[in-house]
Amino acid sequence: MSMSWQPAVDVSRRGAMSLSSRMLATGSQPPEAAPRPGGRQGAGRCGCGRIDTHAHYIPARYRTALSDAGLATVDGGVPLPPWSLADHVAMMDRHGIDVSVLSLSSPGVQVLEGRPAVKLARAVNDEGAAIGAEHPGRFGLFISLPLPDVQASLEEIDYGFDTLKADGVVLMTNIRGRYLGDPEFLPVFEALDRRGAVVYLHPTAPCGLGTASLGMPAPVIEFPFDTVRATVSLIYSGRLRTCPNLRLLLSHAGGALPMLASRIAAMSGLPLIEPRPAGGAEEVRAQFAKIYYDLALSANPTALGALREITTLDHVTFGTDYPFSGSLGLDRHVQSFEAIKATLPPEDQTRIESGTALDLFPRLRTFLAG
Ligand SMILES: [Zn+2]
Repeated sequence: MSMSWQPAVDVSRRGAMSLSSRMLATGSQPPEAAPRPGGRQGAGRCGCGRIDTHAHYIPARYRTALSDAGLATVDGGVPLPPWSLADHVAMMDRHGIDVSVLSLSSPGVQVLEGRPAVKLARAVNDEGAAIGAEHPGRFGLFISLPLPDVQASLEEIDYGFDTLKADGVVLMTNIRGRYLGDPEFLPVFEALDRRGAVVYLHPTAPCGLGTASLGMPAPVIEFPFDTVRATVSLIYSGRLRTCPNLRLLLSHAGGALPMLASRIAAMSGLPLIEPRPAGGAEEVRAQFAKIYYDLALSANPTALGALREITTLDHVTFGTDYPFSGSLGLDRHVQSFEAIKATLPPEDQTRIESGTALDLFPRLRTFLAG
């Protein structure tokens, strides 16, 4: 392969000011202090049951790892936002979020390789669990795995689920340019399947970002398409068929997937494609319906309408993408979610706000009851 994978192509250091940087520089970030309509400002947990399945923490050790790797920005020009636990809890209270299921965002621990990546995964997973212990009933956790190291990932799965009581794993859509249907990753998926684990896919920059992204940060174009690549890899390789107990959760309403779903299903039987799903288009459509999707930065009628063509609302969750959404207007996106929610029958409102998440993470029921 002529183009090597890069965890984050720092376009800002090549002289082009990133989109996110411009947004920040022009002050387009909305005031995060805006109170949530109907929210109990300063009252702490609202008890309304909202669960955020797309929320990030940025441990100091992870921030240092990115900095030590020479990354001033991530994913082709996205500044790493400030994050603190106190700010995160304040955001939750402001937006009526009872529980955040924390994960590392892109590029994740694969910013490092070998033993340093293994140690970083353990450190961020321990810190995520410590946050949950510090604020009982407020935080769930997706552990990070040090892929492509399969053996170390298997050990981290055991540690994360058995010792830390994690709620699932977060995987990036590609692992240093390799996609998740790669046969070498099979033992990891089999281990997750035995646990019936929730596998949360978060987009990351693909190989060759500089050309494919038109010089823009990956979230603009390539995040939605890398979500498609990862999902097609998992379905066409047969991984989701052979690991039927996995619950796959995609970010941002599946990215570009809902709009391409019919095409991907229809072409699944072409004889020159190898591997391809044994069950053809019917299997592909069944997998799309079985997958779960969060609405982070995607709670708009167009995205939800397309999503409802391939699945049902009991496979849809609420998400904020905090703190990265701070520069993209988190308050506005939460308001958009509430506007969409208001158009739905009461039982569907409950599903997308918490019901689907509670199906995925049963232990959170005790959080809401507490
Ligand atoms: Zn995110």
